[in-house]
Amino acid sequence: MPKLTCEVSASLLDALARAAAGTGESIDHIVSRALADALQVEHGTLFQVSTSGAIVEGLFGGVVSVGTLREHGDFGLGTFAGLDGEMIALDGAFFQMRSDGTIHRAEDGMQVPFALVTHFTPQGEDTLAPFASMAELLARLDARRDSDNIFYAVRLSGRFATVHDRVACKAGAHETLVEATSHQAEFRHQDVPGTMVGFYTPAYARGIGIPGWHLHFISADLSRGGHVLGCAGAGIRLEMERLDDFRSPCRRPPPS
Ligand SMILES: [Zn+2]
Repeated sequence: MPKLTCEVSASLLDALARAAAGTGESIDHIVSRALADALQVEHGTLFQVSTSGAIVEGLFGGVVSVGTLREHGDFGLGTFAGLDGEMIALDGAFFQMRSDGTIHRAEDGMQVPFALVTHFTPQGEDTLAPFASMAELLARLDARRDSDNIFYAVRLSGRFATVHDRVACKAGAHETLVEATSHQAEFRHQDVPGTMVGFYTPAYARGIGIPGWHLHFISADLSRGGHVLGCAGAGIRLEMERLDDFRSPCRRPPPS
């Protein structure tokens, strides 16, 4: 990455140091984001709907529409109002993967209480060494990150030896996340070609996101998929993007 050297006032430098110490964000990240804002450059922008905190509390009502999400990205993951299945967005197509195993194109009017989307522009691609478990895959992905304090997007594509995924079942009224996911559907696929869409959320963003990696899968024939719980594969292609800018409408649905 290019380096920028410039003079700033002592008070600005103090404020910058305090912000970095308070949030755990790097000074590079804070300055890049402020510059992108001031210059109205939208690059590496992650758009997040709602907060994981709201989801855990059982606020599953829709916050924005799929049509609005499309304006902010062509690549992403999330869920639908009432926790009615898992969302995956790939190359601009948004899909609803439901607990009965069916997959449908998501209509623009459908409501979404939680999602991460971006205009995916990977900074490089590579082939991952074989991995026998989810833990091995996540360790490989962690090794590719150059920072603990930045969001990342990844696309993993190829023929997976195994994928174990879950799909949320539509929640009953007033259920919490723990109750709602206690009756989720789980699927195991063998030797399945497809794509995973994933995001890394840094620890400092706890409360607005779940720290660590979050991956959703869809098979190449668009017939199977869900929130990834386990997987194994060899010869899987990795594409990755640093997301230096984070935006959230921070709107919560009204309590019902
Ligand atoms: Zn998920």
